[in-house]
Amino acid sequence: MKRLKSADMSEELNLKRAIEQLLEIDAFFTGDMAVKGPALNFPEPAGFVSPASPAQLPAEVKQAVSEPVIQYKIGENMTKTQALEIIAEQVRACRACPLGSTRLNAVPGEGDPDAAIVFVGEAPGADEDSTGRPFVGRAGKLLTDIIAAMGLKREQVYICNTLKCRPPGNRDPLPSEKDACRHFLRSQLDIIKPKVIVALGSHAARELLATDEAIGKLRGVFQQYKTSPNASPIKLMPTYHPAYLLRNYSPDNRRRVWEDMQLVMAELGLKIPKKQVEKE
Ligand code: URA
Repeated sequence: MKRLKSADMSEELNLKRAIEQLLEIDAFFTGDMAVKGPALNFPEPAGFVSPASPAQLPAEVKQAVSEPVIQYKIGENMTKTQALEIIAEQVRACRACPLGSTRLNAVPGEGDPDAAIVFVGEAPGADEDSTGRPFVGRAGKLLTDIIAAMGLKREQVYICNTLKCRPPGNRDPLPSEKDACRHFLRSQLDIIKPKVIVALGSHAARELLATDEAIGKLRGVFQQYKTSPNASPIKLMPTYHPAYLLRNYSPDNRRRVWEDMQLVMAELGLKIPKKQVEKE
């Protein structure tokens, strides 16, 4: 049998460890710790908005897509679903920064327009760029598991990003790109008016809180976000990004994210599973 060189062996060991960690993290968020059964506290989503199933917009609402600032009065001139679909159309048409020409697909966001929780990530990656949907790759699978562990379905929350287009090679968003994109996220949050925003990772937390503080310092404590100076504050929980959790897997980091989510669940009056003894 061919003998493995030591570099090959260590690569194989790393791969084995990575697979074990993936299985472990998956088992954690789908295992004993997770809320089981259907969520009782949330109704079924009324109008799930996905780029895959754009809402039917009446002509007068469609016209608003080409207007730079849309005048929405939810319940008066349009529904939340329609307002979010206008934002999504504007995102798809946006060329305000160079990412508008390098992307394959814009990724506006998707979910329940009446969601109590909005999860905000950093920016689309390759899987999101090719599908136009947020969090559909490996990090997305983990996020979906975390949402399920909270007793919710992915369709009952809203998921989006600070940037709506993929930075080439998944590099960090540039300040100019964040400046160009900021109004989209702000409008989405203003339309949905969730009870809690979960900022996933340092980019989302720093962008929404306008701070340079490290995510390790910010996480685990509710902060506040306002869509405009006179708007009511929305509670915001910063936590680690699922991709960070996958890259820096440890029972401690996993526990930290789950503790943050339990604070969110308590804030929303969601049932927290009794079994709190972690298996290390
Ligand atoms: N990472 C993000 O921040 N957003 C996505 O949509 C996917 C991965």
